Amino acid sequence: MPQSLKQVEQTDQLTHGTVFKKLLGQYMVQTDNGPVTCSISSVLRKELIHPTSAPWSGGLRRVQAVREIRLVDPVAIGDVVGFLPAGDSTGVIKEVTPRKNKLARRAPGLKELEQVIVSNVDQIVPMVAAAQPKPRWGLLDRYLAAAEAADIPVLICITKMDLMRKKRRERLLEIVQIYEDIGYSVRLTSAETGEGVAQFEDAIRGRTSVLVGMSGVGKTSLLNVMQPDLGLKVKKISQATGKGRHSTTHLEMFPLDFGGNIIDTPGMKILGLWEIEDEDLASLFVEMEPYVGQCKFRLDCTHTHEPGCAIKKAIETGDISQFRYKSYLWMRDELRPKGK
Ligand code: GDP
Ligand code: ZN
Repeated sequence: MPQSLKQVEQTDQLTHGTVFKKLLGQYMVQTDNGPVTCSISSVLRKELIHPTSAPWSGGLRRVQAVREIRLVDPVAIGDVVGFLPAGDSTGVIKEVTPRKNKLARRAPGLKELEQVIVSNVDQIVPMVAAAQPKPRWGLLDRYLAAAEAADIPVLICITKMDLMRKKRRERLLEIVQIYEDIGYSVRLTSAETGEGVAQFEDAIRGRTSVLVGMSGVGKTSLLNVMQPDLGLKVKKISQATGKGRHSTTHLEMFPLDFGGNIIDTPGMKILGLWEIEDEDLASLFVEMEPYVGQCKFRLDCTHTHEPGCAIKKAIETGDISQFRYKSYLWMRDELRPKGK
């Protein structure tokens, strides 16, 4: 079979590595022998984005190509790619190996296009400040639901624990308990006192973690405590990313000295729930999921007002917390098309 033989020959020549940075249509790929700057073969780009390239037909092919790569870049940070080395630390990407998982967002302005932001993630790390700014638990629950949808494990990091004295600390710990009870790992940290930093390090060591959270939660400070200058490096990229429309071109995966990588997603709505149907929402709350389908109205139940609702019953018996149920209602409201 000459054809498959040819294919084998071709893949044999490929070097593999992980995309850790993108810049203006170029991809920085980390290999065992250091970083390589790659472009992408036009064939592969067509193959990978062809199904979504319909909106731009007709003239100006060059312009079209540039727009496409910005809007629906076929290669994401975290992708393991095979490239043809051209010597002098450059190469041409020929294949993207199947992704273990991915986080996507809607490409700006075009409903039907999905833009993969990062792939092959080991965990999502929502960062929530204990205070200053005040925690937004609803936002955390949204991240958790999105992580469930993407089937990616979660590590919750609470920062600025030094601001929590006695009563406030106790109250916070009660909330933390709710999350631990339903199976989430939580680390309590303070960049100020060093509390929990070693435990947090242990939890991200050797893994690729995507950090999510509002600015000001203390991400930079915590990263700096773990690894001098890391926070500042990340912040520099983040500030550039926060600005432009072409933000994802500035994303970067940073290696950790003690093993593993982190990727920051500043201000990105990558975890927006645009692709989730509201009837699926309860399944994305891990503690509600087992009850889905058990209600009197089975899968038609919205778990809001219906009689015989298994989830509402579980709230009464204390098996599901009112706290998280409130988030469910809030998110459901947000997902529902207006007037429905
Ligand atoms: P980022 O925007 O998430 O990167 O947050 P920064 O690390 O820049 O911190 C934002 C603000 O919170 C700064 O004024 C920090 O000094 C403060 N901050 C950061 N970490 C801590 C902490 O552990 N305890 C306290 N009390 N303040 C902190
Ligand atoms: Zn129900």
